[in-house]
Amino acid sequence: MRPFRYARVDDVPGAVALLARTPGGAFLGGGTNLVDLMKLDVVTPDLLVDVRRLTSDRVEELPGGGIRIGAATPNSDLAADPLVRRRYPVLSQALLSGASGQLRNLATAGGNLLQRTRCVYFQNVTTPCNKRQPGTGCSAIDGHHRELAILGTSPECVATHPSDFAVALTALGAVVHTEGPDGGRSIPMGDLHRLPGNEPQRDTILQHGELITAIEVPPLPFATCSHYRKVRDRASYAFALVSVAAAIDVVDGVVRDVRIALGGVAHKPWRATRAEEFLRGGPVEEDRFRAAAEAELAEARPLPDNAFKVPLARNTLARTLLDLARPPA
Ligand SMILES: Cc1cc2nc3c(=O)[nH]c(=O)nc-3n(C[C@H](O)[C@H](O)[C@H](O)COP(=O)(O)OP(=O)(O)OC[C@H]3O[C@@H](n4cnc5c(N)ncnc54)[C@H](O)[C@@H]3O)c2cc1C
Ligand code: SF4
Repeated sequence: MRPFRYARVDDVPGAVALLARTPGGAFLGGGTNLVDLMKLDVVTPDLLVDVRRLTSDRVEELPGGGIRIGAATPNSDLAADPLVRRRYPVLSQALLSGASGQLRNLATAGGNLLQRTRCVYFQNVTTPCNKRQPGTGCSAIDGHHRELAILGTSPECVATHPSDFAVALTALGAVVHTEGPDGGRSIPMGDLHRLPGNEPQRDTILQHGELITAIEVPPLPFATCSHYRKVRDRASYAFALVSVAAAIDVVDGVVRDVRIALGGVAHKPWRATRAEEFLRGGPVEEDRFRAAAEAELAEARPLPDNAFKVPLARNTLARTLLDLARPPA
């Protein structure tokens, strides 16, 4: 690990201004991802600006029925919050499916969204990686890519986004609030993360020095009928091979509305809009759920070792919807 400076500032404008004039600096949340990457020399910030005390660390109820999550809210508090558990079980389940109890105590909502990919070449500074060092090549495409992306890839990068929480927020249509050198903005979750294109080094659309201050989840009454299903190599302490976040509104056997996002399949949480459109207004039938999943995955371009993710994603999506629409007795 290289030497670095550590700073605590009094307020959000101070933190944004300090980072904006320090091109090599980074915000520090719980440090559970950033510090790991610093130990491996994958990232080498010369200044860490601690942001844990700058934003709210709790969940607030909004007048219209939604919630506002302070960026410094620990993942474990968020998962246990009664409002979250009652109104958005998918969020609580997604958080509890990630990491370990100790890590969730330290990890923050803002930092969770911005954690870096788990591609093994990204984490190994002795191998070429376009995300870590643009222009050096992608070791994964002809190497180990079993866990990597099947949708929205580019010849430059096939990495997946790792956050479970982000997948659930994407399904719910959440909005991320930020403060940056050019002022504040509100970014729909679906727009926060990027596909790799020819700039895989950029995970998100955020500017250097732009701080996530809060996340708003809109009111969605049928999100009480929601679920996060994560398929992974081990029962715990493993990232998703494929995951599904879904909420469904069924009236008299017909799908009135549905929200779906997939994890473990792309460089960003993947909102399954094709599957959603296919399902709205149609009957609750297993074949239709499978057809919706097929429609979503029609553009999947797997590599040899991750082709299994296509049927895995199809089956996981269909099963999750079926369990929600027709709960087991
Ligand atoms: C062994 C292990 C297993 C794990 N398993 C899972 C898993 O299964 N699923 C899962 O989703 N996660 C998993 N994680 C990842 C863990 O959830 C993340 O490390 C954690 O959520 C990151 O939050 P943090 O507050 O510690 O972020 P930090 O490590 O502090 O920061 C992460 C990034 O966010 C930036 N940042 C932090 N806060 C802000 C802010 N408010 N605004 C702007 N930028 C900010 C930092 O500069 C940094 O780039 C695992 C981690 C470990 C170590
Ligand atoms: S998939 Fe992306 S992160 Fe992994 S080696 Fe290729 S460029 Fe790097």
